[in-house]
Amino acid sequence: MKLLLCLECGDLFNLDYSIKKCSCGKVEGKYIDNINAVYKGGVAVPMGISNPSLLEAIRNQPEKGMGEEFTAFTIPKKCPTFIKQDQ
Ligand SMILES: [Zn+2]
Repeated sequence: MKLLLCLECGDLFNLDYSIKKCSCGKVEGKYIDNINAVYKGGVAVPMGISNPSLLEAIRNQPEKGMGEEFTAFTIPKKCPTFIKQDQ
């Protein structure tokens, strides 16, 4: 799952096939097919969540106590499936 973080307003959001923007409007992005996505914004950080890891954490969600961790990561600045369109 691809996400965008805006370092200006702090929004962290998923993508859709139509353009989505953060609250301050400085970061935007969208999927162009089921794998590839594009984004814009000098304060954008492309991020990902491991889908199998998230599904496992949902399956193991505890009733109380500590939460169940899952894997999230920053996507490299140069990534062939998540391309920055400006600069
Ligand atoms: Zn923003």
